[in-house]
Amino acid sequence: MEFQSTRDVNKKTYSSAQVIKQGLADDGGLFVPCNIPQLAMTDIEELSMRKYYRRTAKILNRFLNDYTIEELKDDCHDAYDGESFPGGAAPIVKLTDSLYSLELWHGPTAAFKDMALQIMPRLLSRALDKTNEKKTALILVATSGDTGKAALEGYRDIDKIKIMVFYPEHGVSSVQKLQMTTQCGNNVNVCGINGNFDDAQNGVKQIFSDKTVAKALADKGYFLSSANSINWGRLAPQIAYYFSAYCDMYNNGTIKLGEKINVCVPTGNFGNIFAAYIAKMMGLPIKKLICASNSNNVLTDFLHTGIYNRNRDFHMTMSPSMDILISSNLERLLYFVAGSEKTLEYMNSLSKSGKYKIDEETKAALDKSFKGYFADEKMTTETIHKYWTEYNYLIDPHTAVAFSCAEQYITETGDTTKTVITSTASPYKFAKDVLAALSDEKPENDIAALDMLNKLTGVEIPYPLRNIDKRQINFKNVIDSKDMLKSVLAYVDKQ
Ligand SMILES: *Cc1c(COP(=O)(O)O)cnc(C)c1O
Repeated sequence: MEFQSTRDVNKKTYSSAQVIKQGLADDGGLFVPCNIPQLAMTDIEELSMRKYYRRTAKILNRFLNDYTIEELKDDCHDAYDGESFPGGAAPIVKLTDSLYSLELWHGPTAAFKDMALQIMPRLLSRALDKTNEKKTALILVATSGDTGKAALEGYRDIDKIKIMVFYPEHGVSSVQKLQMTTQCGNNVNVCGINGNFDDAQNGVKQIFSDKTVAKALADKGYFLSSANSINWGRLAPQIAYYFSAYCDMYNNGTIKLGEKINVCVPTGNFGNIFAAYIAKMMGLPIKKLICASNSNNVLTDFLHTGIYNRNRDFHMTMSPSMDILISSNLERLLYFVAGSEKTLEYMNSLSKSGKYKIDEETKAALDKSFKGYFADEKMTTETIHKYWTEYNYLIDPHTAVAFSCAEQYITETGDTTKTVITSTASPYKFAKDVLAALSDEKPENDIAALDMLNKLTGVEIPYPLRNIDKRQINFKNVIDSKDMLKSVLAYVDKQ
């Protein structure tokens, strides 16, 4: 299996180890596999007999030719089958005859980014050996909250890798912030930005695309790599849980082999839902992909009109990991439906004017697989309340956005296909907003909200969030986004 850049009309190819090591292509495009491996129903039936980690190893094996199946099994075993996921890696919970929640937050940071970031550093570590890399990998991450902590946990104390995380100072919850500022490890650094997530992400992208920076870092013995969901090593493991969900539903008699399901995903950077689209292209019986957004509904508009326009107000919502106006992974979708030439054209237009319009043919191709909806803050709150009071099921705001959108889809279409909704964070990661949706109690802060929500519902607090306020703060730096490069170089020099 070889890879190429979404923007390269000459189709230069790269190996899987190179792609994982490099993160972003030289031309600013994203790496994509040159072709999509196909799974037959018999393969899916075979996967059904395996544990989660073996399912993931099998899926990864289809994309990562530089790795042996034994290496992948070992890494997946270490990532998913140990103490990191006490509640199982990706359990599925039935709510109604048509709605199923795929819980992806039982890992070490209580959010779904763990699904990829517990395995990705192990793949990168092997990629450095496989490509004879002598330099240290410097991972730069811009985070809207959950990625940062998950990356820090994934990469901490891994040999020949250092990691630096930037988060928007006022764009993450205080629990998310505490999770990051209390991080331990001898190869980690954390820094707040005065600005929003897009400022942080643009800052990181600029550093990545600056050749003089690369040279300066190389002289110091470093090269840049990315842990954001633009890295293929982040995306590939996410494909696995859609297959796994299907296998579990088949195993427990919810569906027959070959029966189609719908998938609804709370979407920000478009990584999670794009992984579902790949699963569909690989042969997983998925009918519709429902793209759920919050008030930052640029994707909803795009899927309705074919016009992507980021020139709009930015809203800070209670689902901050979806407060995004440029969904990077959408570029990969455009590549698969429209090809490199058009992708390049659209991306140039996006960077010049902040918008682009796809042609009729591309729009029609998207309509076949995708539907977009959004839930505003009021709908999100009402949905949290509804699922607790009617189903005794506690959900976080991101997951609530998805439930609301799945309901909108079902009401609008009357489609009775069984729908899997990815639940992307523990409700305790956003305890204050969840508590406010359920009661009039006014906690003093997020930490008090954790205990109050626990008392009110009796639902257990996940292990990564217990006693979070008793840990030592290791990082206090907050800077302007224009100073990001300076702080990266200072960090490297300090080591
Ligand atoms: C990152 C994140 C999302 C959005 O996922 P994308 O892959 O960026 O679309 C949704 N919910 C939570 C809790 C997240 O952390």
